[in-house]
Amino acid sequence: MTFAHLRPVRLVVYALAACAMTACQPGNTTTYGSSVPNTPVNFELRIQGQYATFVPAGDIKMYTFTQPQFPTQMMGYAGLLVCTTFNETYAAFDLCCPHCVSKRATVEPDGMFAHCPNCGEDYDISYGLATPTQGISRERLKEYHCYYDYARGTLLIRN
Ligand SMILES: [Zn+2]
Repeated sequence: MTFAHLRPVRLVVYALAACAMTACQPGNTTTYGSSVPNTPVNFELRIQGQYATFVPAGDIKMYTFTQPQFPTQMMGYAGLLVCTTFNETYAAFDLCCPHCVSKRATVEPDGMFAHCPNCGEDYDISYGLATPTQGISRERLKEYHCYYDYARGTLLIRN
């Protein structure tokens, strides 16, 4: 018996490892690089309650939050933008413009865009990607994870 028999198996293992590291990551992650500093996020919204109209229905609704409602909540670097998208999903981003990288340069809801009044960039929120449209910023907004907890009727936002 020679070791030649092992080669195809090892190639498959390498391929799987490479895939796990790069191409097979789901799209909705925060693992891409961002100029916005990594800062803890722990926030939740009572959809079945105070935010009863904030449900994904194929349109864009946006809320911004800069102050924690409870001491255990953490708001990311400059605060949170939470929205519904044309895809009928929730999405959440840091309010910090990744081009300006300043807590004083936070994006503001403007129709289907998040607008940075400091540099003028408009980030397209419509499909939950927050990509820059003016050619000023080279990065999209820093994205955070959204989970809907059906049992509690609560939207959880984490990083
Ligand atoms: Zn900016």
